[in-house]
Parts: sequence; structure tokens; C-alpha cells
Amino acid sequence: MDERLDHAPCGFLSMADDGRITEVNQTLCGLLGYTRGELEGRLVSLLMKRESIAFYQLYFVPMIRMQDKVEAMYLALLSKSGEEVPVLLNACRRIGSGGPEIDCGSPEIDCICFPMKERYEYEKALLTVKQETDERNRLKKKQIAELECLQKELEAKQQELLVVNDKLRKLADTDGLTGLRNRRSFHEHLTEAVRHSEESRQPVSLLLIDIDNFKLINDTYGHLVGDSVLQEMGRLLTEEAGTDNVAARYGGEEFALVLPASGKSAAVALAERIRSLVEKADWASTAITVSIGAATSMPGSTELALQEDADRALYASKNAGRNRVTHANHSIRVQ
Ligand code: GH3
Ligand code: MG
Ligand code: MG
Repeated sequence: MDERLDHAPCGFLSMADDGRITEVNQTLCGLLGYTRGELEGRLVSLLMKRESIAFYQLYFVPMIRMQDKVEAMYLALLSKSGEEVPVLLNACRRIGSGGPEIDCGSPEIDCICFPMKERYEYEKALLTVKQETDERNRLKKKQIAELECLQKELEAKQQELLVVNDKLRKLADTDGLTGLRNRRSFHEHLTEAVRHSEESRQPVSLLLIDIDNFKLINDTYGHLVGDSVLQEMGRLLTEEAGTDNVAARYGGEEFALVLPASGKSAAVALAERIRSLVEKADWASTAITVSIGAATSMPGSTELALQEDADRALYASKNAGRNRVTHANHSIRVQ
């Protein structure tokens, strides 16, 4: 073999059509760890792993026979020590010049192989990085899905919390027996109504309603009956208050109605209607009446002044014999 081909910077191998190696250069021998003597005359399959032999039979052999050449075929060779040596292979088939073991005129196949170890390592590293990236992406997607799930749970919990808070706020504002607003909530509402009345320059009125001789009802029929009278009174006042006005339990058997945007005559009319309804209602125990004190804000009125006026008017109704309505302005007694 020519000296330059023997040491060319690529492997060179010649074989007969049946795969017997006829010539091999030093470069390929060095690459695979064989001596020339160990390879020449042996079948080329000696240099391949089982999978590579199948690939060689399936692709290389038919292609070289049909096209007389094979270009850039990737093949994994096997070194003497069993190590895989990836190579890129070019081959051509020609009518042989005849060597020591080949008849003149028989086809010969010349192959050159370029070691691909570096590229193979790069590809392996790239593949590993890709697999790691895929895995990280998969984990990231999973974490995002979990986060979205948690976010939804959180939103649901926040919604529940809002509902619970709303219930708690209502509970904190509500009188347990009658279901009306309690005194604390009443004060808040009255303060707001007085502020709004100042702003809008519209009057606000307040009714204080006290059940007459309630102690007697308790003493005669017992506290439970007394309680049910208070509950029934609560229902009646809620109905009469409607959506514009606010009814509250002011104290034991005292109630309050805040009437925004209501002047004296509207307040007195509603108070009279309530008084009359209570008087005519069919109470389970005994006849019930209420005394009512009404007051209407003047420009600059405070919440306290309004309450004091209504209280004074209520006192006047009581003093005048109960079951009546008195308005604080000039302490007009309506009935
Ligand atoms: P007046 O006509 O002057 O208002 O007389 P009254 O008996 O209604 O007033 P008084 O202040 O003397 O008595 C009020 C009673 O209301 C005393 C108290 O035991 C009763 N009371 C207060 N809160 C409740 C309650 O929640 N349930 C019951 N059953 N009774 C209550
Ligand atoms: Mg009373
Ligand atoms: Mg009272």
C-alpha cells in the first residue's frame, strides 16, 4: 500500500464483495487497536457490533451493489477492546485489479472512515442537555399546574372567607332575639344618616318606640311570651320600615326607626301608622300598645341631639297616658 494512504488522516479499508478484508491502512488499525495481520483476510463484520452488522446487511450491502457507492453513512465500529468507535463512512465498488487473494476482475469495495468520536460526544452531551431541559420543562409545567390549582383553592377559600366575614359582620350587627339591627349598628347607621342629611340638606327623622307596660306582660305571662311579643314587634317594624328606613332594637323593649329623607310630617305619619297597627294587631297574649317619640333633624343637628329630642318626645307620650305619638318639635303631641 502506498505510504501516504497507509498513514492518511482517515481510515482506509478494502474488501471483497463477500466482506473479506483485503487491505487496511495503519490509521484504521490504530483507531481500532488491531494489527494489520489480525484484520486482513477476516470478515468486516469482525469490526461491528451485532446491531451494526444488521444495519450493514440491510443498508450498506444493497446500496453498494445497486449504486456502486455509499456516502456519509454513519456506522458504529467495534475496537479490539470492545469499545464503540463511531465513524462516517464513504465507499465505492469497483472491478478489482486483483490482490493476493482476489481474482482479477472481481468487484472490490474501498471504504474510508472518519472517526466521529468528538461529534458523537457532542451529540450525546446535547442529547443529555435536551433531556434535562425537557425534564425541567415538564417539572415546571407540573409546578405551574399545581400553582394554578393552589391559586384556585386560595380564591375559593378567600370567597368562603368573604362569605363567613359577611355572616360574622351581620351577626355582630344583629340583635339575636328580633333579628333587627342591634344598638351598636343603629348608632353607626344614625351617624351616617345625620352626616348624609347635612350633605344633602334633607331632613332625617328618628322614631323611638317603647312597648307600654311590658313589665306587666312579663310578670303576667312569663318571659317567653314577653320574648315572642318582642319578636313579633321586630317583624312588624321590619315590614313597616321597608327598604328606605332602618329598624333597630334600641334596648330591652324599646325600638328605633331611622327615616332618612323624611321630614316631620312623614315621620309622624309613619309613627301613627305603627302605633295604630300595634294597637289593632291580634296579639296572642293580651292587647299591646306602644308609645312613640319622634324627632326630625334641623340644620346642624347632631346625632345625640336627635336622640335626646326623640327620647324627650317619648317621655311626653308616656306622661300623656301612653299609646300615643309625640313629635319633639314644639313637643307636638299627635294623639
Ligand atoms: P313603660 O310603659 O313605662 O315603658 O313600662 P314598662 O313596663 O314597659 O317599662 P319598664 O322599664 O318598667 O320595664 C321593661 C321590662 O322589659 C323590664 C324587663 O324585664 C323587660 N325586658 C327587657 N328586655 C327583655 C327581653 O329581652 N325579654 C323579655 N321577655 N323581657 C325583657
Ligand atoms: Mg316600656
Ligand atoms: Mg322602656
